[in-house]
Amino acid sequence: MNHKDDNESKVVKAADKFRQEPSAAGLNRIKKVIAVMSGKGGVGKSTVTGLLAVSLRRQGYRVGIMDADITGPSIPRMFGVNKRPESIGIGLMPPESSTGISIMSLNLLLENEDDPVIWRGPLIGGAIQQFWNDVVWGDLDYLLVDLPPGTSDAPLTVMQSLPVDGIIIVSSPQELVGMVVKKAVKMANMMKIPVIGLVENYSYAICPSCHEKIEVFGKSRGKEGAKEANVPYLGSLPIDPKLANFCDEGRIEEYESIETKNMSSWVKLD
Ligand code: ADP
Repeated sequence: MNHKDDNESKVVKAADKFRQEPSAAGLNRIKKVIAVMSGKGGVGKSTVTGLLAVSLRRQGYRVGIMDADITGPSIPRMFGVNKRPESIGIGLMPPESSTGISIMSLNLLLENEDDPVIWRGPLIGGAIQQFWNDVVWGDLDYLLVDLPPGTSDAPLTVMQSLPVDGIIIVSSPQELVGMVVKKAVKMANMMKIPVIGLVENYSYAICPSCHEKIEVFGKSRGKEGAKEANVPYLGSLPIDPKLANFCDEGRIEEYESIETKNMSSWVKLD
């Protein structure tokens, strides 16, 4: 078996594990599906998805996260979740985090978390549809979808496969200067999905000794960038080593900060 076939069979096997009849979709009641997008990788998209879920959960909402960033699934790790989804006949039960956030990720279905999986375009749509159809999400106020990074086929396919109500775009100050964010907004517009707004991550750091604000990646341009891209500005998050540590240790639910306190107000139920 060559390398490509080997990879493909891994994907098919992972997907087969939770192909069930009849599907769970008919029983799920999900009020709002919010996708989190970024113009490129590494800007903190998954972290913002996790923080938003935590903020909503603290307000008492029922929240699920679909980790659709299938080439770099990082959601289970930041929540310290590694339990395999349980099959209950009508579908797969997503494991819950310590505060009760339901999580589904390809990483939870692979034999070994560090197995590389190389995706071919058409398989992505199928896997995501199964994350929607065959997962017993139950009653959720919010399902947050951590999209694959960038504006290529992968995020597009995911968005086409799900009934997304709104998109949040995450960017670092650097991308706000060029076309990256505008491209992401254009993609959302083409899909006719409303952009809820823009979040600037890595906006600044605070010097631990003198407490001075340092704009590591240049001048913060969150508000300006949002205005230029014609989307609402949601807020800016600093680089916080404490946040990175909490994520690494699977304890994102314990993180608290002024900047993340009101994140739940970004997405309101009608
Ligand atoms: P993406 O999903 O855009 O690829 P991640 O959310 O996985 O990016 O973040 C990349 C890395 O940066 C992770 O290790 C994460 O913990 C860290 N990180 C993200 N945002 C911050 C922040 N505001 N402060 C400190 N570390 C952060």
